[in-house]
Amino acid sequence: MMLGLLLARAGVAVAVLEKHGDFLRDFRGDTVHPSTLEILSELGLKERFDALPQHRVEQLEGMFADGMYAIGDFRSLRPFPYMALVPQWDLLDLLAAEAQGHDGFRLYMRHEATGLLRGPDGRATGVLARSPDGMVRINADLVVGCDGRRSLMRADAGLQPRNLGAPMDVLWFRLPRRPSDPDGTYGVPGYGNFLVLLNRNDYWQVASVIAKGEAGQWRRQPIQDFRAAVAGRVGFLADRVACIASWDDVKLLEVRVDRLRQWHRPGLLLIGDAAHAMSPIGGVGINLAIQDAVAAGNILAPALLAPGLPDESVLAAVQRRRMLPTRIIQAIQVFIQRRIIAPALANPARDRPVELPPAAKWLLRSAFIRSLPARIIGLGFRREHVRSPRR
Ligand SMILES: Cc1cc2nc3c(=O)[nH]c(=O)nc-3n(C[C@H](O)[C@H](O)[C@H](O)COP(=O)(O)OP(=O)(O)OC[C@H]3O[C@@H](n4cnc5c(N)ncnc54)[C@H](O)[C@@H]3O)c2cc1C
Repeated sequence: MMLGLLLARAGVAVAVLEKHGDFLRDFRGDTVHPSTLEILSELGLKERFDALPQHRVEQLEGMFADGMYAIGDFRSLRPFPYMALVPQWDLLDLLAAEAQGHDGFRLYMRHEATGLLRGPDGRATGVLARSPDGMVRINADLVVGCDGRRSLMRADAGLQPRNLGAPMDVLWFRLPRRPSDPDGTYGVPGYGNFLVLLNRNDYWQVASVIAKGEAGQWRRQPIQDFRAAVAGRVGFLADRVACIASWDDVKLLEVRVDRLRQWHRPGLLLIGDAAHAMSPIGGVGINLAIQDAVAAGNILAPALLAPGLPDESVLAAVQRRRMLPTRIIQAIQVFIQRRIIAPALANPARDRPVELPPAAKWLLRSAFIRSLPARIIGLGFRREHVRSPRR
């Protein structure tokens, strides 16, 4: 959607296909980091974004057995010293509304791309899509696959991502939030499983992180045992865990971390999760996908406005621009997964409280140290700025 908006704004005719009838998917996270806030500001959308219902997070906190500790602090970042939690559908609706104000932008909802169209030389020349009115062919000078971690466009092009491995999956559910609850968005470390609580104002979106492949085992327990486990980790939720009526209220989100070696084929570019599925650590996936879109917009807009078809070297330039920041963030995520998450999930001492190690407590007394994780998560590496023209 972001790339569609940027290209349409630059004067390129764009068709965005979405297979669903709305954007109300619940499983894509909602952290909008300072790097994305900056892009929205550059596009003149920040005021409208600020009007969306949201919760602002200035510090990332961990609720350890001996108290709450700030482990990341956004307050020294400029110009946006916070991360906004906005459900992804609200952000997508905002981008769609803005894009629709540009001539040449078309959003086709309930259109599922089922395969690539190809010319005699094998170059992608568009997509075949299933629509409410039957199959349609959409011809294009360039197809950009932004169709997520199970990308069909990628599969059709014969591209296979390298799996970097993830030791965990996530059980995802909601619980009501009360005015007397803590205000933040924070993690509750534990052995065997741990929780992350996202503050969505009137409810908590809860991620219960479990060892990969153990979802079946969890689901075989009576739901009462799961409720008790949640209440045992976070005392103030005990009065409402009964809102998890059955296992139907708990979704399984499979975590994957992977990356394509090559993000393009003639006539086809892949970006976002289709090129690199991110671990939920740091909640960076949406923001990296947006950075890809901005880099792609900057590089592709002039090539698409010029006569002729964009050469594959232009697509390679997008990959070159985005590969390094993706690699660095994934390397950090994989390191944390291996060194912290996997050992904690494998630890059988499930009832043992987790205390923050004294050395970490000492380090976290420094505002500079606390700002580092926020800087890496919030701004990432090789930050993009909107340079594509507005016509
Ligand atoms: C448990 C979990 C929690 C996460 N939490 C966060 C978080 O808090 N913050 C964060 O930044 N990231 C988070 N992420 C990562 C984030 O969800 C992704 O990195 C991000 O959504 C990628 O964006 P995307 O546009 O590339 O793909 P997606 O968001 O997956 O979007 C792909 C879109 O394409 C559509 N589509 C798919 N196939 C077709 C087709 N054939 N035809 C037409 N349309 C199609 C889909 O319906 C979808 O709308 C989390 C991931 C997981 C697994």
